[in-house]
Amino acid sequence: MSVRDLPPLREALVEHDLLARKSFGQHFLLDLNVTRKIARLAAVGEADTVIEVGPGPGGLTRALLETGARVIAVEKDPRFLPLLRDVAAVADGRLEVVEADALKIDAAALAGGPAHVVSNLPYNVGTPMLIGWLTGPFRPVSMTLMFQKEVADRIAAGVGDDAYGRLAVIAQAVCEAKVVMDLPAKAFTPPPKVASAVVRLVPHATAQPAPLIAALERITAAAFGQRRKMLRSSLKVLGGGALCVRAGVDPDARAETIPVDGFLALARALEAGA
Ligand code: SAM
Repeated sequence: MSVRDLPPLREALVEHDLLARKSFGQHFLLDLNVTRKIARLAAVGEADTVIEVGPGPGGLTRALLETGARVIAVEKDPRFLPLLRDVAAVADGRLEVVEADALKIDAAALAGGPAHVVSNLPYNVGTPMLIGWLTGPFRPVSMTLMFQKEVADRIAAGVGDDAYGRLAVIAQAVCEAKVVMDLPAKAFTPPPKVASAVVRLVPHATAQPAPLIAALERITAAAFGQRRKMLRSSLKVLGGGALCVRAGVDPDARAETIPVDGFLALARALEAGA
């Protein structure tokens, strides 16, 4: 028996008497055509290790296993473990199920080498998880992540877009970020209140040093905290107009008009002056 021979997901949920829990952000993808499309967009295959956060009933897990990848699935809700063990039993040793809070795991130690992250994230923890992967010590090879549509747009927005802000700057300072798939609420069981989208993030070839990212977090928090003000005023506590001049950025400009490179220049100037 292989992963493809497993019973349909709806049957597996009934068999294990499982209902979605709101407190765990549970909205399931039960259509394997959808999860296979996400696995294709993730572009993973036989040589790859994937960390999947929140496998739930395992629809995306099955699709990832079908690519030949090795999957480490981190699930916080213990009710899903027996069902996931059924999947592991037919996965030729390629599925490891870990019961843990993904916000607290040491992903690098868990993966034991380079790894991709693929996840239909719980909405309530999606953004902190992404920030952790963008700024923390574990550097995924790629990330293919589901967010509510509005958050996906904020990650991939370009300068001048309404959604351009702190999240876009930090994400794009570290990665190439693109919305690769839109999903209506009805694609999920139970349907959430909002539409969703998948974002694919691939880190730039040269990693930004951790202190620079820390400086970038401070700069963007101040600049977008008062986004209608000129930088000379919103960045006052960090050096204001003088910092802008050192960075080669117009002190009279507002945060929303500054491209990612401009923010990186400000972060470098802050670091150099610190
Ligand atoms: N991947 C499944 C799918 O596509 O059908 C389930 C997606 S559901 C939106 C989110 C899943 O993440 C749930 O199974 C939930 O229990 C799990 N989860 C929520 N918070 C978590 C956390 N902090 N760490 C690990 N898993 C978590």
